[in-house]
Amino acid sequence: MVTALITELREQMGDGQVLFDPLDLYVFGKDAGLTRGEPSLVVFPHSTEDVAAVMRAARRHGMPVIPRGSGTGLAGGAVATGPALLLVTTRMNRIEEVDPENRTAWVQPGVINLDLSVHTSPFGLYFAPDPSSQSACTVGGNVANNSGGLHCLAEGTTVNHVLAVEVVTPEGEVTVLGGAAPDPIGLDLRGVMVGSEGTLGIVTKVLVKLTPDPPAVRTLLMAFAELEQAAATVSGIIANGLVPGALEMMNQDMTIAVERFAKAGFPTDAGAVLIAEVTGHPSAVDAEAAIVRRIAENHQASLIHVAVEESERKRIWLGRKSAFGAVAQMNPDYYLHDTVVPRTKLVETVEKIDEVGQRHGLLMMNVFHAGDGNLHPLMSFDAAEPGALERVEAAGKDLIEVCVAMGGSLSGEHGIGLEKREFMPLVFNEADLDAQARLREAFDPEGCLNPDKILPEGARCFDFGRPPPVGAWV
Ligand SMILES: Cc1cc2nc3c(=O)[nH]c(=O)nc-3n(C[C@H](O)[C@H](O)[C@H](O)COP(=O)(O)OP(=O)(O)OC[C@H]3O[C@@H](n4cnc5c(N)ncnc54)[C@H](O)[C@@H]3O)c2cc1C
Repeated sequence: MVTALITELREQMGDGQVLFDPLDLYVFGKDAGLTRGEPSLVVFPHSTEDVAAVMRAARRHGMPVIPRGSGTGLAGGAVATGPALLLVTTRMNRIEEVDPENRTAWVQPGVINLDLSVHTSPFGLYFAPDPSSQSACTVGGNVANNSGGLHCLAEGTTVNHVLAVEVVTPEGEVTVLGGAAPDPIGLDLRGVMVGSEGTLGIVTKVLVKLTPDPPAVRTLLMAFAELEQAAATVSGIIANGLVPGALEMMNQDMTIAVERFAKAGFPTDAGAVLIAEVTGHPSAVDAEAAIVRRIAENHQASLIHVAVEESERKRIWLGRKSAFGAVAQMNPDYYLHDTVVPRTKLVETVEKIDEVGQRHGLLMMNVFHAGDGNLHPLMSFDAAEPGALERVEAAGKDLIEVCVAMGGSLSGEHGIGLEKREFMPLVFNEADLDAQARLREAFDPEGCLNPDKILPEGARCFDFGRPPPVGAWV
C-alpha cells in the first residue's frame, strides 16, 4: 500500500516533494510534545490542487492523512499513531493578497505567523494572535489549534481573526467556509474548522483579519515579594474595568531561568514578576498606566518600571518570550503544560501545582497569561534518567486533575491532540463526546483525517459498551 502510494505521488508531484527515507521519517516523528510516532511518508504540497490530489490518492490507497505545519504543537497533534501520510504545509507559504483598506489578507497555511505581521507592517497592520512560538509556527497551525498568545487578552484568540478558510475535504474536494462579510449567513462552519486540530479538513488558505498597530503602547514591568500580591494586582486591574493588551506573570524559578538566559532585567529576588501592556490613544494609555501603577502600589509592588524606549519594551518581551528557551537550556528535556482556571483561582492552583511537582520530585516552573487564567507549568527533566518520563506523565495527569477541580479546563490554547484526549471525560460527559464525534463523522465519515486526536477512544455513545439508543442516528 505504502510503496504504491509513494510511487504514485512521486510521479505526480516530483521526487523532492515526497520523503520516505527512515531518517527523514524519524525527523517528522514528533512535534514539540512528548509523544513520538513516525509517519509512513511525508508529502510537501505547494498548492491547493496538490493537496486535493494527495487527499484523493491517499483515499484510494486507504492511507490516513495527518496535516502538519511547523510541528511546534505541544500536544502530539501532528504525530502518527499508525500508518499515515504526513502532509506538511511549510512550502505553501505565500501571502497571496493584502487588502489594507478592508484590513484583510488571503494567505496560504504555511506562512509563518511573524512573517505575516512583518509583511503587513508597512500598512500599519498586524496579525493579532502572537504565540510565543510566532517566529516558527504557521498560520495553518494557529487556525487548527485556535492558538492564543501574549496579546490575546484584549484581541481574542485566532478564531476572532479568521474570516474564511479554504479547506480540502477527505474526499479531495475544495470548499470555502465563511467569507469577507462580517456576519455570514448559515451555520458557522468556519468557526467549527478553527480549533479542529486537523480532524475535519486540510486548511489550504486563510482569509485573516488584520489589526491596526496601536497608536501608543505603555509596558510596565512589576515585581512582588509574593505571588498572591501579583495575582491580586491582576484581579484589581480587571476589576477596574481595564482590559490591557497583555498581562503576563512568572514565578521566581521561571524568572531566574529567564534572566540567566535572556538578561532582560527581571529581578530574580522577587516572588513574582508581572508584565502589563496597555495600548490605545496616547492620552488614554498614560491614564491607564497610572491606574495599573496605583493598583500595583496598593499590593506592595517592590518594583514598578514603565518602559520608556521601544528597545526597553522589546527587551521585556524578549525576556517573556524566551521563557521556554530558557528552560530548554537547563536540562535535555522539558514538558510544557497548558491549562486554564478561573483567574480568581490562580494562586491556589499554583500552590497545588507546586505540591504536584514536589510529590513527583520535579522542578515545576510557571509562566502564565494571568489575565485570562491560562497557566503554563513547565517541568524540566532528563528523559534518559530511568523513570523520569513516567514521573513527568504522572505529574501531568495530577496537575490536569487539580486544574479541573478548580473549575478549569484541559487546555487554554495548545489544544488536546493525542496527549490530552484521554482526559476529555474529565470535562465532557458521554453525550457531549458523542455529539463531537458525530460532527467529526459528518466531515470525515471514513475517519481518515488525523486519527486518534482530540476525542478519546470510544467517544461514540455506542462504543461505551452498550448499544445505541433506539432511533439514534449512528
Ligand atoms: C516554545 C513554544 C511556545 C509556544 N507558545 C504558544 C503560545 O503562546 N500560544 C499558543 O497558543 N501556542 C503556543 N505554542 C504551541 C504551538 O506553537 C501552536 O499550537 C501553533 O499554532 C502550532 O503551529 P504549527 O505550525 O507548529 O502546527 P503543528 O504543530 O504542525 O500542528 C498543530 C496542529 O494543527 C494541525 N494542522 C497544522 N496545519 C494544518 C492545516 N493546514 N490544516 C489542518 N490542520 C492543520 C495539525 O494536524 C496539528 O493537529 C508554543 C509552542 C512552543 C514550542
